[in-house]
Amino acid sequence: MPHAPQLVRIAILGATGRMGRSLIESVLESPQLQLVAAVTQAGEAAVGSDAGTLVGRPGIGVAIATELAPAVQLADVVIDFTRPQGTETALRECVAAGKSLVIGTTGFNAQQKAAIADAAKSIPICLAANFSIGVNVSLKLIADAARTLGAGYDVEILEAHHRHKVDAPSGTALRMGEAAAAGLGIKLEDCAVYAREGITGARATGAIGFASVRGGDVVGDHTVMFLGDGERIEISHKASSRGNFARGALRAAAWLSGRGPGLYDMQDVLGLK
Ligand code: NAD
Repeated sequence: MPHAPQLVRIAILGATGRMGRSLIESVLESPQLQLVAAVTQAGEAAVGSDAGTLVGRPGIGVAIATELAPAVQLADVVIDFTRPQGTETALRECVAAGKSLVIGTTGFNAQQKAAIADAAKSIPICLAANFSIGVNVSLKLIADAARTLGAGYDVEILEAHHRHKVDAPSGTALRMGEAAAAGLGIKLEDCAVYAREGITGARATGAIGFASVRGGDVVGDHTVMFLGDGERIEISHKASSRGNFARGALRAAAWLSGRGPGLYDMQDVLGLK
């Protein structure tokens, strides 16, 4: 009789958040993964209750906790979608216990990024500012298109997000700009144009332009245009729910389980490098 494949045991840090709840839902749907711990910060109303209640499925037998150390002991992989301070705790506990870590939290400063790279010398870490599988495949398509089309095609990036988003252009639009720039063999910081108003003059050769739309409940739309003479190519990605980030993060967790120390990203997970 062949052995049944072992379940990958998952601890979620940031369990009560928007992404945390989406992750709980997706873990419960996965036949390869098992939710063993759900952790949030002290003071949240849900602390102590069953994690299933957050997603309308009470009785899964995992209580929402505030201490990460015991949760890390139970897990093969910790998934962190919190704030940079939460990630610092996750790094410390995962390094101490020798456990794998998926980091979805965004907004790190240079020191925090260095701490992540340092921790990745002793444990496997997958870090991505966007875990959507579709976005990550789009990044590969954008780099390939830029490389093949070359400098004769103007690159413009258009993004749309909900009315609550506070920054522009989106981090994902910037990653797309970097992918196009890498394909063209140039650096984004040397060619990015983030705004146009008034008498701007003709378009600079080699520029990569950005435009942002804000409104309604748009989860996230991105289009990269390659505009040539007599034709244009558009590579578009449209997110309609947070479930795609959660599924990507769980795919990363399964991929990371049993891997050696190192700093990986979604391009590694999807075999796109
Ligand atoms: P949220 O505010 O809804 O939830 C945050 C959760 O983290 C809450 O449970 C909160 O209690 C917990 N938390 C905050 N600080 C903590 C700390 N110091 N220690 C422990 N727990 C802490 O936020 P969200 O919308 O779920 O997003 C969470 C993070 O994930 C943000 O950084 C966001 O930018 C990022 N995000 C990343 C992706 C991606 O694909 N990488 C996608 C969506 C969101």
